[in-house]
Amino acid sequence: MIFVTGGAGFIGANFVLDWLAAADEPVVNIDKLTYAGNLENLAGAQSDPRHIFVQADIGDGGQMAQLLAQHRPRAVLNFAAESHVDRSIHGPEDFIQTNVLGTFRLLEAVRGYWHTLEARAKADFRFLHVSTDEVYGTLAPSDPAFTEEHNYEPNSPYSASKAASDHLVRAWHHTYGLPVLTTNCSNNYGPLHFPEKLIPLMIVNALAGKPLPVYGDGQQVRDWLYVRDHCSAIRRVLEAGKTGETYNVGGWNEKANIDIVKTICALLDELRPRQDGKSYAEQISYVSDRPGHDRRYAIDARKLERELGWKPAETFETGIRKTVQWYLDNPQWVANVQSGAYREWVQKQYAQP
Ligand code: NAD
Repeated sequence: MIFVTGGAGFIGANFVLDWLAAADEPVVNIDKLTYAGNLENLAGAQSDPRHIFVQADIGDGGQMAQLLAQHRPRAVLNFAAESHVDRSIHGPEDFIQTNVLGTFRLLEAVRGYWHTLEARAKADFRFLHVSTDEVYGTLAPSDPAFTEEHNYEPNSPYSASKAASDHLVRAWHHTYGLPVLTTNCSNNYGPLHFPEKLIPLMIVNALAGKPLPVYGDGQQVRDWLYVRDHCSAIRRVLEAGKTGETYNVGGWNEKANIDIVKTICALLDELRPRQDGKSYAEQISYVSDRPGHDRRYAIDARKLERELGWKPAETFETGIRKTVQWYLDNPQWVANVQSGAYREWVQKQYAQP
């Protein structure tokens, strides 16, 4: 039995679906169901008895302790977070509540539970914290990619709150001996991605005939990883990672935002041509840059590759093609997210415990 928090979100849901496909081990999925939590993401696991969904807040330490005592997992994987940088600029409070205080309360509940385990189970237990490369700050064009030794220099309320959570996880290991692992991953893309983020937003807007808003000059560079490759990295770190260590996860796919948008337009031109015969690239529209926008992120994933033998299965070219195709094949998922109808899944599909 494992616990996943935030498993109704983009990466968490992909992880749960992957887990159930690959492992014969039940998963308790704890999610508050904020605007980003979508039970429709878990439709594939709906009738699977190995998937136990609980709507709960990681910041509710009492409920976390009760769930841990009830289900007695061998590992807790913390995906739950407020995750959108733009939202963190306009309303940082929720980010501090969930990413900082929530992680703290979860750690405390896990620490209490961990002490109740007998020696073998205690030694085998893992708390895996899912984090981001954004904690490292920004890079100049000629800088080497972020290694695990890079200083933490977060620049947005989102990355600052994730940095704080990483530090708490580290401290719970050094101070209390909790067996923790932290992964810092680059930008993910793929199926089930909420269309406020760059790649799904561009696909959805392009198909709707809307402008494709590109911040500033579009030359901000991000390192992209297909979400299922992130999931396989997390599984690998969970099974073979050394406790107390952090692992950078990335696909060696540095791309400027404008090139991502042009790639999406070219794929849509091929797969779903515009009726007027023009390219979707005509819809690109430059808008003012966001404050504090980091210029470049790049992940050096060699530690994970060398020590744990992990490799991504997708290149950017294969992954982005799958992603565009997924959005073309799932217009109802997009429509339900945009209309808010996905919230009805809470009532319709799952009885609350
Ligand atoms: P997401 O916003 O799609 O999903 C977050 C999920 O957490 C949602 O289902 C939400 O309902 C849930 N949640 C939020 N607050 C909660 C709380 N207090 N208690 C319980 N559940 C709560 O985010 P995502 O993109 O899937 O990211 C998952 C994790 O991976 C985050 O920790 C994020 O920082 C990290 N990460 C994301 C990326 C990326 O590119 N998306 C890259 C690296 C790391």
